[in-house]
Amino acid sequence: MPARINSGFLQVRHRYLFQEVARRVAAFRASHPDADVIPLGIGDVTQPLAPAVIQAMHRAVDDLSQAESFHGYGPENGYDWLREAIAEGDYRSRGIAVDADEIFVNDGAKSDLGNILDLFAGENIVGIPDPVYPAYVDANLLDSRQVRFIPCTEENHYAGEIPQGWLDIIYLCFPNNPTGAVITREHLSEWVRYAREHDSLILFDSAYETFIRDETYPRSIYEIAGADECAIEFRSFSKTAGFTGVRCGYTVIPKALSVCTSSGQRMGLGPLWEFRQGCKFNGASYVAQRGAAAIYTADGRKQTREITDGYLRTAGIIREGLRSAGLSASGGENAPYVWTRTPEGMDDWEFFDRLLTATGIVVTPGSGFGAEGKGHFRITSFGDPGRTAQAMERLKRFVDGL
Ligand SMILES: *Cc1c(COP(=O)(O)O)cnc(C)c1O
Repeated sequence: MPARINSGFLQVRHRYLFQEVARRVAAFRASHPDADVIPLGIGDVTQPLAPAVIQAMHRAVDDLSQAESFHGYGPENGYDWLREAIAEGDYRSRGIAVDADEIFVNDGAKSDLGNILDLFAGENIVGIPDPVYPAYVDANLLDSRQVRFIPCTEENHYAGEIPQGWLDIIYLCFPNNPTGAVITREHLSEWVRYAREHDSLILFDSAYETFIRDETYPRSIYEIAGADECAIEFRSFSKTAGFTGVRCGYTVIPKALSVCTSSGQRMGLGPLWEFRQGCKFNGASYVAQRGAAAIYTADGRKQTREITDGYLRTAGIIREGLRSAGLSASGGENAPYVWTRTPEGMDDWEFFDRLLTATGIVVTPGSGFGAEGKGHFRITSFGDPGRTAQAMERLKRFVDGL
C-alpha cells in the first residue's frame, strides 16, 4: 500500500479565516496603493512587553551565556518556580485549590487545545460552540472526530444552551473569542452540572481571563465546585501579557480528574498528559518561562494590568462608535473583542468587502467563526487607540450612507 494522508485533512477543505481576510486585504492594497488601511480585525496584540518581563528575559539570556548558570533542556512541564508562581498567583491567592504539579507549562494554549485530543478516543462526540475560535474545530476534524455545534446566540447571552443530548467532550471559552461574551457563575455551574451528570469533560479556554473587570464573572472554571473532576483549563500569556511572539502558556489538569477506559476503568488524566508531553514535547524555552514568572511579581502584575486596561479603553471606543452608527455592540467590557450585527442584515463577507473598499477598514466576518456568526462581524481592540477612533468615524459615515 502507498503512504496515505490522514483523511481528516479532507474534512478541513475550507480556507482558514484569517488567511482569506489577509488575501482580500492584500488584493485591495494592490489595487488601491494609496488607500489608508486600518486593521480592526487583528487577533494579535500590539503593545510591547512589560518592563518587568523584559528585564527578566534579559537576565535569563545572561544566565545562558555562562557555563555555571546555563540551562539546557528543562523539565517538560515547566520549571517549578513558574508552576509554583502560577498556582499561587492565579489560583490559591484567589481561594482556588490548585497545586503546582497540576500546572503544565507549554509554548502557548493553541498547541495544547489541539494536542490534548491525543488523550481521548476517536469516537468521543465533541461539542463546540458556534461561533468559535476556528482552531478547536479544525483540530477535531483532523482527528476525524464527530463535532456537534452548540449555538451561542444573543438569546442565550452567547454562552450556549445546555444540550439535551450527549456530548463527551465540550469546549468552552470565556471571555469569548469572537463574541467578547463572559459567562455568569450560574450558567457555568450548569455546564459543570451537565458534565458531571454525563461523565463528560469540559475543555475550558480562559486565555482572556485577565480582561475580566466585573469580578462577579468567574475567571477560572475551578471557581465552580466539582469542576476539578470534570474540567481542564487552558491559559495563555499571549493576550494577557503580550506573549504572542514569546510563546508561553499553561494547562491545568487537576489530580481529581479521571476519564474511563473502554472497559470502564478510570484513569487519571494528569499522568497520561505527562506521558504524552514527555513523548512529543520538550518544554517551553527557559527565557520565555523566566519572562512569564516576572508577570507574577508586583511590578509585572501592575504593568501587564495597565496594558490590558489600555485595550479595554480602546474596546470602549469601539462600542461607543458602533452605537453612534446605530449598530449593536456586545462584548468589549471584559474582553478585547466587540461583536456586532451587520447593518440592514447584510451578508458579512459582503459587508467586509464593501467596508474595505469604501473606507479601508478591515473587520473579521462573523461567518468565518461558524454558521451562527453569519450576519455579524468582530472588531478587536488591539489596534492603536487613535487609529481605532478614526476608523469608527469612517465606519459611522459609511453606515449612515447605506
Ligand atoms: C489567542 C487565543 C489563544 C492563545 O493562543 P496561544 O497559542 O497561547 O498564543 C487561545 N484561545 C483563544 C480563544 C485565543 O483567541
